[in-house]
Amino acid sequence: MLELDFEIAPDYREFRDTVRQFLQSHLSERLRFGARATPTVFAEPEIAREWQAILFDRGWLAYNWPREFGGTGWSPVERYIFERECALSDAPGLPVLGLKLLAPVLCHYGTPAQQTHYLPKILSGEHYWCQGFSEPGAGSDLANLRTTAVKNGDHYRVNGSKIWTTHAHFADHMFCLVRTDSSVKAQRGISFLLVDMKQPGVRVRPIVTLAGDHEVNEVFLDDVRVHETDLVGAEGQGWTIAKFLLENERGGSCHAPKLLADIRRLRSDASREPADDGGTLILDPLFASQLAKLKLEAQALEITELRILEQLDNGQRPGPQTSIVKLVASDVRRRIDALAMSAFGYAGLQLETHRPLYGPIVPAAIYNRGAQVAAPRYLNSQAWAIFGGSNEIQRNIIAKTVLML
Ligand SMILES: Cc1cc2nc3c(=O)[nH]c(=O)nc-3n(C[C@H](O)[C@H](O)[C@H](O)COP(=O)(O)OP(=O)(O)OC[C@H]3O[C@@H](n4cnc5c(N)ncnc54)[C@H](O)[C@@H]3O)c2cc1C
Repeated sequence: MLELDFEIAPDYREFRDTVRQFLQSHLSERLRFGARATPTVFAEPEIAREWQAILFDRGWLAYNWPREFGGTGWSPVERYIFERECALSDAPGLPVLGLKLLAPVLCHYGTPAQQTHYLPKILSGEHYWCQGFSEPGAGSDLANLRTTAVKNGDHYRVNGSKIWTTHAHFADHMFCLVRTDSSVKAQRGISFLLVDMKQPGVRVRPIVTLAGDHEVNEVFLDDVRVHETDLVGAEGQGWTIAKFLLENERGGSCHAPKLLADIRRLRSDASREPADDGGTLILDPLFASQLAKLKLEAQALEITELRILEQLDNGQRPGPQTSIVKLVASDVRRRIDALAMSAFGYAGLQLETHRPLYGPIVPAAIYNRGAQVAAPRYLNSQAWAIFGGSNEIQRNIIAKTVLML
């Protein structure tokens, strides 16, 4: 198999070694185990919050925030190295909805009072956020959303429902898009509100997916009160803010480090997995060439992601490149998980043991082999083509903005 890895430039080796040592000494087996056993993008809050607190204490949690709001001041390459080392060390995912989606919005569009109130609580983990954008009939066509917010004195009264709301059952706050004006063009009548979910009128109903996970929900809002100070930006500016947020969701985070770490892990598992001819699976030319192709594609993605990070750092908006990242990342993700399923065969179908936090405890040695989590990961990875805006919609964006079709 072709082995070609990007070398870290000498200037960054000291930084990489510092991060690596920190991860080695602070990532407990419990945290690594929790990360390895996670079939979805989101780690269980129990695991994610424990890791969040450790990074918070070290001052490394807000590594993608501007420095004046508590960011680390790392260069794009340093941020990338950090993500890469975390992926290689099996660090759990962080609660991204607050840390990586809402926080940049508040830094950019929030009032000083919103920044002072919310940002420290996102960092400390006191607030756990979910994202209320999609509605029945308003997913790809998000501008069609119908949840209304009507001003009544110094409050809005919010009525409507949201769907596919990830981790709403854990969240105490939701940032959401609402319609504040029905008399103007659809996009112009949308506003961005911060909703306290611990109040009467908010109801969360679970949706259990094909993989057996309870990750997404329906959220019903019945005369829910939101103080006017929890409007982000101006009334009617919600669409612009949503586009800013979605660009971060699609391209602001780095997917390649995790994909490359998973390819490496699959390769190591396949070096032990017996093949039909009595050898090991990695010696099967078809398997090895599929894995090598995936690795090359993930490395190409790595370069695009680094370029986007640099653009963001220079204050440029990456635009349609984020759609390309989303398309490639979701495609490689799904193919890695499909290859893992084919590699592990029957052992990959042990669906009932994939959730150590909820289900029976299985010795870590078994989890170290990717088999036990292969089926739920494979099923869950299909969602990559849908969330953050479906792949068909990303292709439309690329056709319009890059190919000018
Ligand atoms: C696991 C998961 C987690 C999610 N988490 C969240 C969350 O936390 N918060 C949130 O707000 N939303 C969330 N979503 C919702 C997600 O953003 C929407 O599902 C997505 O935008 C697609 O919308 P839809 O489901 O309404 O599908 P539709 O828009 O109805 O699309 C159905 C199909 O038609 C295709 N299609 C639609 N319009 C076009 C077009 N113009 N051209 C070509 N094809 C088209 C789509 O690609 C898709 O294949 C999540 C979704 C999933 C699967």
